[in-house]
Amino acid sequence: MEVALKIDVDTHQGLELGVPRLASMLEREGIVAGFYIAMGPDNSGRAILRVFRNRGFLSKMFRTRAVSMYGARTILSGTILPSRPIALSFPGIIRDLKARGFEVGVHGYDHVRWQDRLDKIGAAGILSELGDAFEVYRAILGEAPRSFAAPGWRTNDAALVALDAMALDYRSDTRGIAPYRCVAGERVLATPEIPTTLPTLDEVMGRRELPDDTAVRDFYLGLCRPDALNVHTIHAETEGMGQLESFTALVRALKERGVKFVQLREVASRLNRAELPLCEVIRTTLPGRAGWISAQGPARLAAE
Ligand SMILES: [Zn+2]
Repeated sequence: MEVALKIDVDTHQGLELGVPRLASMLEREGIVAGFYIAMGPDNSGRAILRVFRNRGFLSKMFRTRAVSMYGARTILSGTILPSRPIALSFPGIIRDLKARGFEVGVHGYDHVRWQDRLDKIGAAGILSELGDAFEVYRAILGEAPRSFAAPGWRTNDAALVALDAMALDYRSDTRGIAPYRCVAGERVLATPEIPTTLPTLDEVMGRRELPDDTAVRDFYLGLCRPDALNVHTIHAETEGMGQLESFTALVRALKERGVKFVQLREVASRLNRAELPLCEVIRTTLPGRAGWISAQGPARLAAE
């Protein structure tokens, strides 16, 4: 059984506090993983305000303990307090990840702008988000990024095509069941898409049938498919902070079951692009998550 841990870093606080804690824990446990970092400003306060306007906000806030999880500074970031740069505030932490053998990829530039306004900013807006993000990555690590993970699992044809032109080793933009190549409009894209296969902790937390950490751990153990690649997206702000202890317990339980941890770059290097299924990217919703996400759609039979 293979598990790839895809660690999304959405906020200033997540990079400052969650990432070093996660990296130390993973190193202690002898586990490889990849960190996908939002390269631009932390406007997460705006995202939290958006959630505020949705129905069911209060119960979700209590269930997920959002304030203790994110902290007041993050909740206000980009609203009444100025947004802070994420990656450029901690270049040393990012270089250190790479030096210690962790994979580092791009998780967009302005996470909130991408997630909330992807369809409104147009091809030019998407190109500027990508250009800025890749520039910051290059400035910090001295090389071009080789992978991209879309903020909020949201993409569209313009973003898919723009990223394909960058000839990355892979993307991880969607939810799905197994690696594939995207069909955008009539175009079959070259870059492999390696989707997240498991639900995220914030989607699962607070379910009535999962009353405690042990139940959540057993739930994940039950979801991991023995004969397939399991891609688990975790968050520096969640599993790296308030949920670090229970996440460590999950990692140990997976180790006990003989799971092999892999990085997505290794997965990408062994994929045969010509043999991957060609799938449309559809929009859908997930239990426990507000709004739409992009997902692996039905496979297409036509040859290229
Ligand atoms: Zn994210």
